[in-house]
Amino acid sequence: MIKKVTIRSCFLPPISYDVFMNYSTLLIDADNTLFNFDLSQEKALKSTFEEIGLAYTPALHQFYETVSRRLWSDYEEGHITLGELVRRRFDALFEEFDIRADSAAFNDLYLIHLGTHATLFSGVMETLDYLYKHYQLYIVTNGIGPSQRARFDTLHLKRYFADIFISEEIGIGKPHKGFFDYVFSHIEERDKMKILIVGDSLSSDIRGGKNAGIATCWLNRQRLKNPSLKPDYEIYDITELKNIL
Ligand SMILES: [Mg+2]
Repeated sequence: MIKKVTIRSCFLPPISYDVFMNYSTLLIDADNTLFNFDLSQEKALKSTFEEIGLAYTPALHQFYETVSRRLWSDYEEGHITLGELVRRRFDALFEEFDIRADSAAFNDLYLIHLGTHATLFSGVMETLDYLYKHYQLYIVTNGIGPSQRARFDTLHLKRYFADIFISEEIGIGKPHKGFFDYVFSHIEERDKMKILIVGDSLSSDIRGGKNAGIATCWLNRQRLKNPSLKPDYEIYDITELKNIL
């Protein structure tokens, strides 16, 4: 990949030159980057509600989505722990809809269903098949250990990755520098210039990559305009990753 670098100084006009970017290592997000998480979540919630004899209605879904999104944002900003997130999401849902069920037990059941309802976006397998022959691949994901690992097992994806880093197991998540410090101390590559993070989230993947001082590639599947952060690269589909490397 050729990248244009511009040097600016007060005394001279800007000088641009091409640098050959030679990445050895890709840190890849899982949810909504490889896995169609929104679809898996909906299927898992439906199965879990069915198992306790209730229907998963659009109203429940909409409320859960809103609460879940807010809690994940609070987690990324360091306001709550992952444990608090997991407890609060179903507490809030059950309180709003007056559902008499044990939220902790429900959460355990939901995580089991989430592990089995894994769906990949199209083009992911072909892309990983190409990438793992040329780069060291690692997963960097905010999530619960067993359900994340179960999905990699279900889809036989582990063979592509040198390691899988999950925020619950590390005790800190993206976008915090501590998460990336842990990752850097457990991967082969020592030169940050050779590491690229790829993910769909500006607030965790791109912010995290910038906090950690590595190059960033934003998977902007929804083609959103005017992002709050400027990634080094932007792609609309995971299959485009090959083209920028
Ligand atoms: Mg994601």
